[in-house]
Amino acid sequence: MKINRNFDDLVPNYLFAEIAKRTSAYISAHPDQKVIKLGIGDVTLPLPPVAVQALKNGADEMGVKETFKGYPEYEGYDFARQAISDYYDEFGVKIAADEIFISDGAKSDTGNIGDIFGADNTVLIPDPVYPVYVDANIMAGRKIVYAPGTRDNHFLPMPDDSVHADIIYLCSPNNPTGAAYSAEQLKVWVDYALKSDAVILYDSAYEAFITDDCPRSIFAIDRARECAVEFCSLSKTAGFTGVRCGYTVIPKELVRDGHNIHSLWYRRQATKFNGVSYPVQCAAAAVFSKEGQQQIRKNLDYYKENARIISAALDELGIYYTGGKNSPYIWLECPNVMSSWEFFDHLLNNAQVVGTPGEGFGDQGKGYLRLTSFGDRDNTIEAVERIKKLLK
Ligand code: PLP
Repeated sequence: MKINRNFDDLVPNYLFAEIAKRTSAYISAHPDQKVIKLGIGDVTLPLPPVAVQALKNGADEMGVKETFKGYPEYEGYDFARQAISDYYDEFGVKIAADEIFISDGAKSDTGNIGDIFGADNTVLIPDPVYPVYVDANIMAGRKIVYAPGTRDNHFLPMPDDSVHADIIYLCSPNNPTGAAYSAEQLKVWVDYALKSDAVILYDSAYEAFITDDCPRSIFAIDRARECAVEFCSLSKTAGFTGVRCGYTVIPKELVRDGHNIHSLWYRRQATKFNGVSYPVQCAAAAVFSKEGQQQIRKNLDYYKENARIISAALDELGIYYTGGKNSPYIWLECPNVMSSWEFFDHLLNNAQVVGTPGEGFGDQGKGYLRLTSFGDRDNTIEAVERIKKLLK
């Protein structure tokens, strides 16, 4: 009996455990001090009321013989897929309902999509980025090359024609840097992918935070339908981190190596996934209703105002950062050439504020720290005042 030895190549990720350890040690030693967590990667505002009502209605229907439903369709109910298709339409992107696969979230899909690609493909992954792409591809034994995000490219790495890639992950707005690609930049990625017959796996989990003219979907870019798959999520958009619902868009015409990608993904899902529960899909559809969109906008605006407050303080301090505008994340350069962990300790010990050390998201994250806007408004204001006092 042999295990998958690719697991030996995973780098242990102690990031969140180490943050929790250092934070609780500090709190134990200083029980009278108020520690504010600006490292929260989860939403904190509750579900929009329309989603709660839809969950309840869906559950009620399941309790009545005439409306009871058994296994859902693997790819999602038509009403939920249509609601998402209409949502895309609102920002000018045409996606047919049957190109949408409803799932339990973008984490599963961005990790599982590898099932349909050969192990001998080379995968290009931005650094820093959401760590799931790297670990899922290490598990599959694929060769990984990195596109370094740096201060010089404002953490928006662009393709290097001398680097060959078959699979390209992009995340915009990015976690952890909050940086979002412009349409011109995405067009360069699409052209690069088309030239080498690669597939772009585009994670748009934070698209709802975009307020300027950065594209909210890769499919806003000409010819992206010939080279891209898009993953999205209701987690950060509508507070669904604990409800679990996302969706993946695969254009029907996307073909690689003589195979239709949409058909392959359907086959994969039909084999390993039994769909998303009816009440959850009802709640998801409710989020995309007019009322739902108004309700989530209130929550998104709350987070975005927190992000603005944090960004304004960094502007005042003259600290370099990305994000904060189209994203709940603010990615800042640690002052005085401190390492990520040195700055983490400095903030914790002297301002009682907790951030997330950037090196947990890739080598290029060294010397950076991520703050998030998912906290409470008063705490965010207080944390920012403490940071300003400490770093002025
Ligand atoms: N993609 C990115 C870039 C994320 O940051 C996250 C969560 O933090 C996810 C996907 C996970 O989404 P979901 O909750 O839908 O699995």
